[in-house]
Amino acid sequence: MGMIYNSCMKNDPLLPFFSPKGVVIVGVSRDPTKLGYMLASNLVQSGYQGAIHFVNPKGETLFGRRIYTRLADVPDPVDLALLLVPPPGVPAALEDVAARGIRAAVIQTGGFRETGPDGARLEQECLEIARKHGIRLVGPNCIGFIDTHLPINSTFLQPPGPPAGDIAFISHSGAICAAVMDWIRGQGNGLSNLASLGNCLDVSEADLLPVMAANPHAKVITLYMESVRNGADFIEKARLAARIKPVLALKVGRFESGKKAAASHTGALAGAESAFDAAFEKAGVIRVNTTEELFQWAKALAWCPLPKGRRVAILTNSGGPGVTAADALELNGLQLAQLSPATVEGMKSFLPAAASLHNPVDMLASANAEHFSRALELMMADDQVDSILVISPPPPPTTAAALIKAMVPVVLSHDKPVVFTMMGEDQVSEALALLHAYKIPDYRFPEWSASALGALSRYAEIKQRLMDENQAKAGKAPARATALLAAEPQGQFISPDAATGLLDAYQIATTPLTLCKTAEEAARQAGKTGYPVVLKIASPDIVHKSDIGGVLLGLKNAAEVAQGFAKVMERARAAQPDAKVDGVHIQRMLPAGQEVITGMVRDPMFGPMMMFGSGGVEVEGLKDVAFALAPLTFAEAEKMLEATWAGRKLRGFRSIPAGDREAVIDTLMKLSRLAVENPAILEMEINPLRVLPPGQGAYAVDVRIRKS
Ligand code: ADP
Ligand code: MG
Repeated sequence: MGMIYNSCMKNDPLLPFFSPKGVVIVGVSRDPTKLGYMLASNLVQSGYQGAIHFVNPKGETLFGRRIYTRLADVPDPVDLALLLVPPPGVPAALEDVAARGIRAAVIQTGGFRETGPDGARLEQECLEIARKHGIRLVGPNCIGFIDTHLPINSTFLQPPGPPAGDIAFISHSGAICAAVMDWIRGQGNGLSNLASLGNCLDVSEADLLPVMAANPHAKVITLYMESVRNGADFIEKARLAARIKPVLALKVGRFESGKKAAASHTGALAGAESAFDAAFEKAGVIRVNTTEELFQWAKALAWCPLPKGRRVAILTNSGGPGVTAADALELNGLQLAQLSPATVEGMKSFLPAAASLHNPVDMLASANAEHFSRALELMMADDQVDSILVISPPPPPTTAAALIKAMVPVVLSHDKPVVFTMMGEDQVSEALALLHAYKIPDYRFPEWSASALGALSRYAEIKQRLMDENQAKAGKAPARATALLAAEPQGQFISPDAATGLLDAYQIATTPLTLCKTAEEAARQAGKTGYPVVLKIASPDIVHKSDIGGVLLGLKNAAEVAQGFAKVMERARAAQPDAKVDGVHIQRMLPAGQEVITGMVRDPMFGPMMMFGSGGVEVEGLKDVAFALAPLTFAEAEKMLEATWAGRKLRGFRSIPAGDREAVIDTLMKLSRLAVENPAILEMEINPLRVLPPGQGAYAVDVRIRKS
């Protein structure tokens, strides 16, 4: 008995949660108003084929089964315990679980961390007991699990449970589970699994991903999450799951975290949500914005084959909805397919002369079921078409159901995604039932259909990328970098020399600075560096040097340097009288080029997060930046360029000459390795990185690196 998802799960300590041999409910109740009764009732009614046992100190019977007074008396087989005892009794119950040799327990009771410090302490006590005995824990404060195919229902929710389906749903919130179950039934859809995790004391959302990825009934994994317990673990497991099937996540609590004081532009621009976005991107998880998107997209992803590209054909019998769909496709990053001549000619043979045969295809209101199915067949056979959006407005002259009946065989006999827009509600119910029966996705409006097709394309591309791409690997820091960093003070910006040295150790092109304490020294150094030179105020306390006039560019001779020295010293004194000033830096003057910013902040959850975008003084206002988690692959770095105007502009734009894109990508990848391999670095920023014409490199001009 009990389906084992695949051989690699056989020894998985989480297996009893999904495929238990026997289940015991500790804290069962004979009172129909109690959760302990509902849980027992659901488990018995779910059709679960393993052993079911009840425990309550009061004994007696329930549903014709004996209620044991002690867990110790429960016979074999039993490998999963569902605990519904009051919170103070949970630690003792866990000791009993351990003594009975059970290694998997769900604490369904609430009243722990979510209620305050006492609850948190109690929770911790439970975790310690579990660790001591090697018990894996789900919850506390959760509603349990459902597998509609096994089947098993270990929740205490009001029946009916969700219909059997293809969508796995993992949720931090139990209330959302109850709502989703009911809603999905109303949608004519179903779930393969439902897993409510509650407080995630032990088993986390990440732990469930491999299990759902291995479950053949789950065609798509949906997540409702409030947080992530372990960032690196989540990314790794989500990435592996996303290679196998689509993973969609709704992450809530976007706006709860206030902006922390930041010491760099990178820090100021990187909120906690940028880190989640970057994490989902890295893992190949599709982030959704609403609960509705989560399930509307899941439906298409569960039921459709993946498209080979982004070209979509629209088939309808009216103008307005076709144009609406065309706009919506564009908004979702899709393209209107250019139909091949064979398709157009083929349609001409049976459609009225006034029909519009170019995408969107409008067959006119006279179109009947046969017209729809023949046109669909032609589009299915057309190599220029990657997916198809069929729109049926409220239909004279046939019923919507008749249209669908004619088209279903065409859809099922090809390997190309088709989504239906069945406009209306009451009049289309029969058609919808048919579509659901054949697992063909439907939407009420063209915009939803277009966004679902967009999700299909996105996942097709994610899957391709995850298959092709080896993970970017970081290794051990070069000894020189480790030594340089160790010599610098903690919690501060490291010296410009050390910063340059660190970049150097990673072969990132720099523009070295030489410190000069007097005007004479500066003039002498300028001669050595070679004119023209740049002169900058050297002070650990002056953060934005040019703001106080502390940067002089293009100085051509010793006299200009000597005067410049006096000028910037005076300006510094005037602007920041108590700043510690070391002198000036002399730097080589770089040739003209585009300027970009790149940086890193270390996210507490996901680790080093790289930033790239438009630099300069307006950086925080423009917000032309992209984030991605280190280490970066070439493709990930390139994507950051493509996501920003600063990066796209490197190809050249009107009078702006092109820059060395490859050098920028290379710099980003190296900087990301520097970040991963040197955990002592809290924050880095290169502003600007001066990008010379193609083939000539990109140079870090102004570098700031802060240690933790
Ligand atoms: P800050 O950011 O503290 O004001 P920077 O060192 O970034 O100081 O210099 C300000 C600006 O001056 C840069 O954004 C760049 O445009 C220009 N600049 C600075 N150093 C050089 C250099 N070596 N070659 C060419 N331009 C430079
Ligand atoms: Mg700068």
